[in-house]
Amino acid sequence: MVANKQIVVVEDEPDILEVLSYNLKREGFEVFASLDGEEGLALIRQKKPDLVLLDLMLPGMDGLDICRQLKADEQTQVIPIIMVTAKGEESDIVSGLEIGADDYVAKPFSPKELVARVKAVIRREKYTKTDFNKKQIVLNGLLIDADKHKVEIDAVEVSLTATEFRLFYYLASQPGRVFSREQLLDYAFGNDAAIVDRNIDVHIRAIRKKTEGDRSFIETIRGVGYRFSDIS
Ligand code: CA
Repeated sequence: MVANKQIVVVEDEPDILEVLSYNLKREGFEVFASLDGEEGLALIRQKKPDLVLLDLMLPGMDGLDICRQLKADEQTQVIPIIMVTAKGEESDIVSGLEIGADDYVAKPFSPKELVARVKAVIRREKYTKTDFNKKQIVLNGLLIDADKHKVEIDAVEVSLTATEFRLFYYLASQPGRVFSREQLLDYAFGNDAAIVDRNIDVHIRAIRKKTEGDRSFIETIRGVGYRFSDIS
């Protein structure tokens, strides 16, 4: 799966860059690295890699600016981005996700976690290209039917409100992907000004109450948002 996949890593701390590169190369990825923001952006534009690992705090140009520029450019906007973040950067993580970054790994991270995230994002990229907006989501005993607005867990139907259904479907359509509250709000309500309760947490709580038995489907990512467990 990873054969011939190219990754650009932009990280200004040489030790961390080394750890990132080493572990990705060991998995068979081809890695290109940069210690500097502007140079990193140029490298990404030149290579058009399969994925970018992007530190947020960088000399030259910071990670959020790089992310913004990549997402604004037709040539590079489809390249998945995983942010590499430090403790205390939760609000930057939220900004990054809203700009279009796909995921993040927080320092200190384990090599195992890093590789798992990279593979998940590449897998999801393939998955979303082929299957996004599909009418049925089937995951490990869970069935979501978008046409019938039906959710079944282990063959038992669960009754969700229209808003709860939209949120649940959206999260489940990309397992493992972290969404900020704002992104979930936008999706669930769009421009519908008539929606009474715009508090995402309330809706998530209601969904959990109805869907969680032995398993929990929705994870809270502190200070960032929510994601559907990667149970596939
Ligand atoms: Ca840094």
